[in-house]
Amino acid sequence: MKKILIIEDEESIRMALEDDFLLEGYEVAIAANGIDGLSMADDPEIDLIILDIMLPGMNGFEICKALRSKNNQTPIIMLTAKGQEIDRVVGLEIGADDYITKPFSPRELQARVKSIFRRIEATSEVNIKDVFFFKGLKVDFKQYECYKNDEKINLTLHEFELLKYLIRNRGRVINRDELLDEVWGKDVIVSPRTVDTHVANLRKKIEKGPENPQLIISIRGRGYKISSG
Ligand code: CA
Repeated sequence: MKKILIIEDEESIRMALEDDFLLEGYEVAIAANGIDGLSMADDPEIDLIILDIMLPGMNGFEICKALRSKNNQTPIIMLTAKGQEIDRVVGLEIGADDYITKPFSPRELQARVKSIFRRIEATSEVNIKDVFFFKGLKVDFKQYECYKNDEKINLTLHEFELLKYLIRNRGRVINRDELLDEVWGKDVIVSPRTVDTHVANLRKKIEKGPENPQLIISIRGRGYKISSG
């Protein structure tokens, strides 16, 4: 069960938020001032923080900054007052994940919360494996290193990114346009032949026999995929 910390000094808002989150099936912790909020935010069980800006003791910006500076990355949604556009900008700059303007509808807030949790789940799936092993190949996504039979191979950044994208999407054929967009970027104008050239170079470095590739497979007329077997 996910646990939400609500840091809000106005009792009526705090209680309404608490009710909404309990109804949605969350566990809830509450703090009525900034100092308490900051210390409660360190609880590793907290999955998300609803943080008001105007608070006695320590304001929401200070709390957000303090948490991020000690590398607490718990998602934060800031509550900003109507018309204070500047709060929103500052909030996002100092590391809040989202903001919502008072008065807000409970539904809107719940939607924002769910969207943050969805985003986190999507990224953590991708990050499950930082190191990929396959047929004598070891790719370390964190260190940006690649080994073939324990021997380090030097890949260019594009070769590495290309390999990484293919591995992250293994099980599916990826066409050249997608590879261009994802590896080279949508704004860069390069010909689809660039992909082929890089795949050829990559094969020379990582395949046992580049003429008979076992790792990066070409699917005629469709694109490339990483071998699954
Ligand atoms: Ca307040």
